[in-house]
Amino acid sequence: MRALQLIDDRKLELVDIAPPPPPGVGEVTVNIRAVALNHIDVWGWRGMAFAKRKMPLTIGAEASGVVDAIGPGVSSVLPGQLVSIYGAQTCGLCRPCREGRDNLCEHVSGVHGFHLDGFAQEKVNLPARLLVPAPPGIDEIGAAVAPVTFGTVEHMLFDNAKLEPGETILVHAGGSGIGSAAIQLAKKIGCTVITTVGSDNKIEKAKALGADHVINYREDRFEGVVRKLTKKKGVDVVFEHVGADTWAGSMLSLRRGGRLVTCGSTSGVSTNMNLMMLFQQQLKLLGSFGCRMENMADAMQKMARGLVHPVIDTQVGFDEIDTALKRMEGRDVFGKIILRIN
Ligand SMILES: [Zn+2]
Repeated sequence: MRALQLIDDRKLELVDIAPPPPPGVGEVTVNIRAVALNHIDVWGWRGMAFAKRKMPLTIGAEASGVVDAIGPGVSSVLPGQLVSIYGAQTCGLCRPCREGRDNLCEHVSGVHGFHLDGFAQEKVNLPARLLVPAPPGIDEIGAAVAPVTFGTVEHMLFDNAKLEPGETILVHAGGSGIGSAAIQLAKKIGCTVITTVGSDNKIEKAKALGADHVINYREDRFEGVVRKLTKKKGVDVVFEHVGADTWAGSMLSLRRGGRLVTCGSTSGVSTNMNLMMLFQQQLKLLGSFGCRMENMADAMQKMARGLVHPVIDTQVGFDEIDTALKRMEGRDVFGKIILRIN
């Protein structure tokens, strides 16, 4: 069967590998249908000094698939069922795992497509407990963007930042996969949404998703516009994932007692911080990574009810992956790029 593997930094190769054996106890063989690309794939592709990984590595952290076969003892899914796949290999035994908070697993083996082989392959064996059945009305793409895109955003906004109706939120990079999800999820509960984009052609698209105000951060200092829009008060919540380039401005955009929630640092992992601002303004900084199992189910329910939808930039095949990753690196994308497998 075919698998898309990283054989060296920036070097991907479509290879032929042996299909997985029949599923063992508690395991399921899944026919992968769609892989949603994320910035973690770009990090992986261009190589990171701090990540110790084996090569070759099959890429892909976020995917959907159809159950091909179930092993002994599996009752949570049935052959033929469409499933959304959790992005990390968690232990299933520790307390956080037993409570469905797998992103706090005490013995996690790693993130698929980054530390461990990912989902850009035709078939894969996985523990049944890491599969969330897609409800009626959800297609392969909806199920593919539930774990890392919508699940992460659900966890950030509602579990961590505890976003409430009527609050104002600044969503960075409204054209990114998670940005486009955050705009919709915040708007649907009745928040005022301010977002940033890097080019004028993304402004109307961001408004169409529900953003009340869109700032082109290449033309205006976003923190200045945010203060003006909020009458110098600042926003209740900042949705961060850009990191170094935006951190100081994000803190300046918060109202006293505001919450900053972050799940990424695409522009760099280190920054300086004004500690006096942190305590005097009584800001709350919330780190967020991955999601709970329930966040995936919640996200798919919202999609099934038509409250939110995946924003798809393009769908590509194996042979177009390099171009896709380069476009993501250059931020020349609006929404998700989907890699079709079968
Ligand atoms: Zn665990």
